Amino acid sequence: MANGQQVIEQFETFAPKKFAFEGDPIGLQIGTLNKEIKRVLVTLDVLESVVDEAIEKEIDLIIAHHPPIFSKLPKVTDQSAAGRIVMKCIKHDIAVYAAHTNLDVAEGGVNDLMAQALGVTDTTVLVPSFENTVYKLVVFVPEEAVAQVSEALSRAGAGHIGAYSDCQFHTTGTGQFKAAIDTTPYIGQAGKLERVTEVRIETVVTELNQKQVIRAMKKAHPYEEVAYDLIREEINAPSLGLGRIGYLKEAMPLKAFAEHVRTVFAVDNLRFVGDEKQMVRKVAVLGGDGNKYVSTAAFAGADVLVTGDLYFHVAHDAMALGLAVVDPGHHVESVMKQGVVDFLTKRFHDQKIDVDVLISTANTNPFHFL
Ligand SMILES: [Zn+2]
Repeated sequence: MANGQQVIEQFETFAPKKFAFEGDPIGLQIGTLNKEIKRVLVTLDVLESVVDEAIEKEIDLIIAHHPPIFSKLPKVTDQSAAGRIVMKCIKHDIAVYAAHTNLDVAEGGVNDLMAQALGVTDTTVLVPSFENTVYKLVVFVPEEAVAQVSEALSRAGAGHIGAYSDCQFHTTGTGQFKAAIDTTPYIGQAGKLERVTEVRIETVVTELNQKQVIRAMKKAHPYEEVAYDLIREEINAPSLGLGRIGYLKEAMPLKAFAEHVRTVFAVDNLRFVGDEKQMVRKVAVLGGDGNKYVSTAAFAGADVLVTGDLYFHVAHDAMALGLAVVDPGHHVESVMKQGVVDFLTKRFHDQKIDVDVLISTANTNPFHFL
């Protein structure tokens, strides 16, 4: 059991709210987080069938990708599906939280999960939307505590430069300080000037992990007052954003790739645009409705784009651009269910939070094929 705020705080280390696109109604949509939570249900959509499943499984919190209240909901009555969903959730004290575009953008989110499932590697972001600022972190540590502070910094995520982790620079020097009378200094005596050998540890952190790194650093540091600098760098970490573009291990004909997509996402049928014999290797993926990004994928050099909800005229545009498109449907975003369950299960385990995370088994795909 854990407090709802605490549960969402853990989730937001994965998909922070600041990744969301403007106007996207993410976050808590129904109910309250000021309550104890025993069980979480992860779903793509919140349909009535999912709420019924949640009631049956005694769920306290639903985490969904698609916000159930997306446009204005002028009335909450049993005369509309959305109204019934809200009423049922409140009656059974089930909170509903949505992570939509922020989960698309998140590292390890919808788009990464799709790319991984398809075996697309060496991926970069297709549509950048969030610049992740880099900061230099400098901290002064007494010699005997260098190992513990250095390790705490790395474990909290400091020191990532490209494919290298644990990057730090250490220099030894002399630190001096005079502690006020009412303090209990770790070294020396209150009111007396002290000079000690200290190590200056330099490393890098980003906008996203700086808070957790500084918290871990202070916890591992023996001093009452930790002396550190956090300096904004004029370089950016790789951007985050929508969609991914990367490579298949080997080129394959479009038809074989389309079959691969169908198998991976276990869909009955899919549509594809392009010559079935054309070879594809550079693959763009964009979960959900990717109509707006057909030319982006083409200009990024993709041979094929995997996305949902493709319009007839956009398919013509793709043909004109020489870009193949495979549309397995919007519902393949349901790969997020297992991804979020895996993340939260591990995170709760590591943080010793006793909350069960369940995957929704209700089928929310509205389409049948003949
Ligand atoms: Zn979607």
